[in-house]
Amino acid sequence: MPSVRLITLGCAKNEVDSEEIAGVLQRAGYRLDAQTDAPDVVVINTCGFLESAQREGMATIRDALRLKRQGKTQRVIVAGCMVQRLGESLQEQFPEVDAWVGVGQMARFAEIVDSARATRQPIADIQPPHHRWADVPTRLRSRAPWTAYLKVSEGCDHKCTFCTIPSFRGAHVSKPLERVLEEARWLAHNGAKEINLIAQDTTQYGYDLYKRFMLPTLLRELNAVEGIEWIRIHYAYPSRITDALIEAMASLPKVVPYLDVPLQHADGRVLKAMRRPGDDARYLQMVRRLREAMPDIAIRTTFIVGFPGEDEAAFQRLLDFLQAAQLDRVGAFMYSREKGTPAAEMPDQVPFRLKRERFDRLMRFQQPISLARNRLWVGRTMRVLIEGYSADGRYAIGRSHRDAPDVDGLVYVRGCTASPGAFVEARITNADVYDVWGEAIPYQPAGQTA
Ligand code: SF4
Repeated sequence: MPSVRLITLGCAKNEVDSEEIAGVLQRAGYRLDAQTDAPDVVVINTCGFLESAQREGMATIRDALRLKRQGKTQRVIVAGCMVQRLGESLQEQFPEVDAWVGVGQMARFAEIVDSARATRQPIADIQPPHHRWADVPTRLRSRAPWTAYLKVSEGCDHKCTFCTIPSFRGAHVSKPLERVLEEARWLAHNGAKEINLIAQDTTQYGYDLYKRFMLPTLLRELNAVEGIEWIRIHYAYPSRITDALIEAMASLPKVVPYLDVPLQHADGRVLKAMRRPGDDARYLQMVRRLREAMPDIAIRTTFIVGFPGEDEAAFQRLLDFLQAAQLDRVGAFMYSREKGTPAAEMPDQVPFRLKRERFDRLMRFQQPISLARNRLWVGRTMRVLIEGYSADGRYAIGRSHRDAPDVDGLVYVRGCTASPGAFVEARITNADVYDVWGEAIPYQPAGQTA
């Protein structure tokens, strides 16, 4: 069985695509092997979002081509967002690459790799972005079985002026409801207890297929899937936090009180230039509605600092918003001037030094807020998904409803003997900016008292 090393760059959506690619290849008789130092085929699933990601992609291609020149691999296949975005210029830059594959081709990967192995002529299979979902059982899981990303749609209809994603991922396309549910059931059957819903905009789910926003309906259906215990929403769009969505989140037991809603800024003038909805007042109202319905909700967001035209007053307005909103999890990016975006042509580009300074100021400003939000849990009990143990075995390490995989904090639990993948109750004893510490509460079967 020819061996394949599959390298995944970029976001969780790419990770799901790679799991589909791996599953399709395995079903066709290929052996997915990340360890071998001489794979027959190297497949690189790239990210094209920012120039920094492209640099990483190109470095990875160079490494693979070095292997090929050393005779340690036969074929190098490059796929994904960077190929869709840069297509021809990449082919000129790397003529030794054997196949170029655009986005959304997961279901066809075995045929593509077969063709690439059967010829010495480079293949280019880059079509206008479209998303053909591979059959459900093909996903070859790359993560711990108890947690999984579930991509509910791809592409985006929004026109944020700094963003390149619609140009290479195309317009918003939802996975049919039954297809999403089948995948969720399959994931649960294969051990997934936590389902992380992802898309470019999860709150737009279903509009293209059913002419209405279907995320509340999807949540109800997922809540009924046996085996799933936690459903977490990522990439919500700020103007789509409807009463129906909040009601579904608050009433469905498996939907955790957690929302990732990238706001990007809080100053109305900057948001307008970004072609994004809202402003600080409306976002504060959104935060208030969420907390009224779910007092324990953890709100995650990300901001861009240094967007063209952002002056000190606009930046200060963002800091004032952070102070007022008291958000739980905050990430930030320095604005990246991306070719082909309207913002790249805007006047008043902010110098890198100032972007850097504002990035540091924002992250420093948020730290005491994140600490205070974590400290609210000291003395309270949390449900924790255990994922492993510290090297010395003293602490179980897990995540609570407040912690999404990869991006948020951890919970360190003393006195715990549960296996990874199990849930435990823990009384929180201490907190820092990102993580909390606690003591495991001995399990009390229902109806029995201590
Ligand atoms: S919502 Fe805006 S930032 Fe997000 S993918 Fe769509 S265009 Fe890009």
